Amino acid sequence: MKLPVIAAAALAAGVNLSSFAAAPIPLPEDRAYPGEIHLTVDASDLAHRVIRVHESISGLPADAVLLFPKWLPGNHGPTGPLDRLAGLMISANGARLNWTRDTIDVYAFHVPVPSTAATVELDFQYLSGIATRGGRAEIGQNVMILDWNDLILYPAGYYSRQITVQPSLKLAEGWKLGSALEPLVLNGAQTTFKPITLNNLVDSPVYAGRYTAQLDLDPGGAVPVHLDLFADRVESLYVKPDQLAAHRAMVQQAYKLFGSHHYAHYDFLYSLTDDVVQKGLEHHQSSEDGANADLFTAWDKTAYARDLLPHEYTHSWNGKFRRPADLWTPNFNVPMQDSLLWVYEGQTQYWGNVLAGRSGLRTRQQALDQLAMTAAFYENQTGRQWRPMEDTTNDPIVQMRRPEPWRDWQRNEDYYNEGMLIWLDADTLIRERSKGKRSLDDFARAFFGINDGSYVTVTYTFDDVVAALNAVEPYDWAHFLHERTDSVGKPAPLDGVRRGGYHLVYADTPTDFEKQADDGRHRNNQTFSIGVDIDQKGGELAEVIWDSPAFKAGLVEGDVLLAVNGTAYSPEALSDAIKAAKGTKAKIELIIKNGEHYKIVDIDYHEGLRYPRLEREATAPALLDEILAPRK
Ligand SMILES: [Zn+2]
Repeated sequence: MKLPVIAAAALAAGVNLSSFAAAPIPLPEDRAYPGEIHLTVDASDLAHRVIRVHESISGLPADAVLLFPKWLPGNHGPTGPLDRLAGLMISANGARLNWTRDTIDVYAFHVPVPSTAATVELDFQYLSGIATRGGRAEIGQNVMILDWNDLILYPAGYYSRQITVQPSLKLAEGWKLGSALEPLVLNGAQTTFKPITLNNLVDSPVYAGRYTAQLDLDPGGAVPVHLDLFADRVESLYVKPDQLAAHRAMVQQAYKLFGSHHYAHYDFLYSLTDDVVQKGLEHHQSSEDGANADLFTAWDKTAYARDLLPHEYTHSWNGKFRRPADLWTPNFNVPMQDSLLWVYEGQTQYWGNVLAGRSGLRTRQQALDQLAMTAAFYENQTGRQWRPMEDTTNDPIVQMRRPEPWRDWQRNEDYYNEGMLIWLDADTLIRERSKGKRSLDDFARAFFGINDGSYVTVTYTFDDVVAALNAVEPYDWAHFLHERTDSVGKPAPLDGVRRGGYHLVYADTPTDFEKQADDGRHRNNQTFSIGVDIDQKGGELAEVIWDSPAFKAGLVEGDVLLAVNGTAYSPEALSDAIKAAKGTKAKIELIIKNGEHYKIVDIDYHEGLRYPRLEREATAPALLDEILAPRK
C-alpha cells in the first residue's frame, strides 16, 4: 500500500508526521488491574439475533482506553468482528461520556473519565449475522454460540491474565448452556459465573440451546470430560453405544499419547445444525465444534467429518498449553506472529487424524483414504513452485479465510495438511532409524506431557522443537525441517507414505471415504483428471486447478457446465466423456455458461478418471498400520 496522499504531501512539505498520530494507547504491562469488570450479557432476544451487553468497570484512569479484542487465539489473525458492535453508550455518575474511536487503531476507544466516577457503565449490542443477509450467524432458532471476545470492551495497559471479570448470562426460557466456565449462581434463565481472568474468559465460550444432551466421555476418570450436544431436533442427539464408545476411546488414546492433561475439566461444545456457523475452535478446557444435523444418525456417511473432535482436543496440549513463542500475546490487541503454525496446526492435524484412527472414530481404511486425498492434493499442487509452505503460515493475516481465486496457485494455509505430511515423514523416520523402538509418540509425550494438570501456557521456539526431536532420535532435524518448510520447488513431502509401507496411486473410482467427502460437500471432484471441482447437481465450477487441462481450455471458477459431448451435464455424463477420451485423440466438448455468455470449449485430456488411493507396498513394513493401531 502507498502512503496516503495527505501524509505524502505532508512529508514533502516537511511537516512532522507525529501530528497524524492519535492519543497514545497504553501498552500491556504484567501488573494487576486495579479494578473489576462486571459483565452482564442478555442473549434472550432470539427474534433479532441481537446480544445486549452491559459492563460496569471500576479502576479506570481519567484518559481511559477501552479495547475490543482484535487478535483472537485460535484464529491466528486480526479477526475480532468489530463491525458487529453497535449502540455503544458510555456513562458515569448518570451522565453520558463522549467516547472517540482511535483513528489509527479502530479497535480502541478513548473515554474521558471524571475523577469522581467510581465505575464507568457501558451498554452496547453484538449483532449476530442474519442468515438471509449472509455472514456468519452465531444465533439460530434453537442453538447459539457465545464468544466472550465479541461481548467485551476491556482496559488497555494490562496483560489479559491480570484483569478480573465477573460474567453473568441470561438465556431464553428453557434454554440450557454448556461451557468450561464454572457457575456460581443459577437463577432461572440467569447464570452468574465465578470471577475469572479475562484471558480464561475469552478461552471459555458458551454454547446454548433448546435441545441439548451431555454425555460423559470419561466415566470414573480423574477429571471430567463431557460431550455437550446442541441440535435443532431431539433426533440429532441420539448417540448409539458404539458411537459413544469411539468418543470415549478418543479420550483414553489421547491420554496414552500425551501422558497428561492440561485442564481441570473438558467440554466438547458440539453444534449439530447448519442453522449456526459450524466452528472448529480450540480452547484449553473446551472446544467449539460443529457438524451437520445427521452426524450421528447417518454415521456411515460422515466419517470425513470425524477428525474434528480429536483435532480440537489435541489443541489443548498443542497450541493452548504449548504455544509458539511468537504467537503468544499479552492481550488481545497485540499482533500475533504465526511462523510456527506448521507445528501448532500441522502436528495437531497429524494427531487428529491418528487419534481418529486409533479410537475407531474412523476405520483404518478411512484413515488411509483420507491420507491418500491429502497426499494427492500436494503431489499435484502448483503453488509450491513459487511459495514455501512456511509462508502460508501468514495466511490467517493475509487471507483471513476469505474466498480467493486460484487457490491451487495461491496456496492456502498449507501448514495444516502439508504440515501433517511432514510429521508423518518425521514419525516414520524415527520408527525406521530406531528399528521400531521409538516414534513421534515419544516426542508428543516429552514435549506436550510436561507440567501435568497445569494450564499455564509454556512457549517454544524452532530450536526447542529440534532439541526435543533430537532427544527422541538423534538426527539433523533442523536441516530436515528447513528443507520441508522454507524451500520452494520441491516435490510434496510424501516420504512418510512410502516409508509407511504404501504408495499413492490413482484409480478410476473414488474410495468410499472420498465419495462420502464429495457427497458431503455436494461436489464432483475431478481435480486430478481434467482439473475442476464441480457442484454435483448444478454444474457450477467451484474451483479450476491452475495449469490443468480445464485451465488451458480457458475455464474459470463460476463457469457453469451445461453439456458434455452434446449431453446435458450430470456427474455420470462427465465421467463417461472422460473415460471415452482415455487413450484417444478425441477432445471432450463442453458447453459453458457464465452470466449471459455462452461458449463451447474443447478439453484436451486423455488419461481417464483419476481418484487417489493408497496401495500396500508388500515388501515394506506397514508402519502406517502400526501408527493407526490403538495403543494398549
Ligand atoms: Zn487447529
